Amino acid sequence: MEKWLETARRYDADDQLSKYRDEFYIGENLYYMDGNSLGLMSRRAEASVLDVMDDWKTLGIDGWTEGERPWFYMSERIGELMAGLIGADPVSVLATNSTTVNIHQTVRTLYQPTEDRYKILVDELNFPSDIYAVQAVLDDYGHGDGLLKAKSRDGHNLETEDIIALMDESVALILLPAVLYRSGQILDMERLTRAAHEKGIIIGFDLCHSIGAIPHELKDWGVDFAVWCTYKHLNGGPGSVAGLYVHPKHHHKQVSLRGWFGNNKESQFDMDHTFDPAADISQYQIGTPHILSMAPLLGALEIFNEAGIADVREKSLKLTGFMLEMLDAEFEKYGFEIVTPRPADARGGHVLIGHENAAGINAALKSRGVIPDFRAPSFVRIAPVALYNSFEDVYHALKILKEIMDDGTYKKFGNRRGVVA
Ligand SMILES: *Cc1c(COP(=O)(O)O)cnc(C)c1O
Repeated sequence: MEKWLETARRYDADDQLSKYRDEFYIGENLYYMDGNSLGLMSRRAEASVLDVMDDWKTLGIDGWTEGERPWFYMSERIGELMAGLIGADPVSVLATNSTTVNIHQTVRTLYQPTEDRYKILVDELNFPSDIYAVQAVLDDYGHGDGLLKAKSRDGHNLETEDIIALMDESVALILLPAVLYRSGQILDMERLTRAAHEKGIIIGFDLCHSIGAIPHELKDWGVDFAVWCTYKHLNGGPGSVAGLYVHPKHHHKQVSLRGWFGNNKESQFDMDHTFDPAADISQYQIGTPHILSMAPLLGALEIFNEAGIADVREKSLKLTGFMLEMLDAEFEKYGFEIVTPRPADARGGHVLIGHENAAGINAALKSRGVIPDFRAPSFVRIAPVALYNSFEDVYHALKILKEIMDDGTYKKFGNRRGVVA
């Protein structure tokens, strides 16, 4: 194993992003590999929360329009800060609601079923909340049987051709993940969008596991809409306000879930009972924005905009590449299955490995300071994050994994998941 340590140190010495590590709170002797579930807190995120608290303390109600960070415009302001991460014009991006609410909002607004065209195409590997929301929309529109699921051949990844083969004249809308939350596979968003549009289908992506890990060119690809959470790779803190993109060509459509914060800002306080929708993405807001849950993003996103998503992606690929190389070379005898696709353009920011004792292995790793996460039924997900993990972290995490496999300590932990796995 020694030679891997030397390689790790050489990579770290070369790492242009290593200066950001000190900006994050990382526990002593902790190898945090779970930044794709909950990103760590940075000093800048902490400071921006305290700044917003200070505005509340000193300005009271005037915090809505006064100070350096007026709350009334904070959803749009944070949208601007995220635009570069998804390749979109700032005016078509917003921070608002939660991811699940944004799925309800975008799908309800853009889904316009007819008698012949009413299906919504999803995939069988997506996160449950996305499927619940889509099914609810179908039920409410009287098309409860309209959920069409692309199947996976191996139970882990999807083939682009298989998804495209399902795009026919009966499909009204498509919602797919950009990066699969388990296997880490990246879907070919550009090709899928082109194929959907050839059939006249609206297509959107859930970027929960891709934003902050890989670059996107949503505008160039012509993607109709996207949603994402901000507490994973974007480090916005637990429950931080989600993101939303809608292509400008749809901005004239009135949103389905209406509230006074979707009203034209100029007339919002006229308090008229007729909804006067904002002419742009702001229409997708519903009620009063969750200012305190947005505040950390002001600091957290500043780091991304400074570091640049291209460099983040380059380092992330090198981190997961290093991990895969070590797994191939040193772990053959333990019976791990590596589920994540190998090609760089098909691999997001995390690696999924399968083992029949995965829950016990996950618990044993945590007891030794390595923090991955377990995904039922039998997988451990490991995410080395470019902004705060080092190559030496990856080395230590895998060295500890090897130790618990060699000495069998994982067997002591039983093989059951916790309530929050
Ligand atoms: C994390 C995640 C969610 C979470 O949605 P919330 O509304 O923030 O709870 C939804 N979808 C996917 C694909 C996710 O990875």
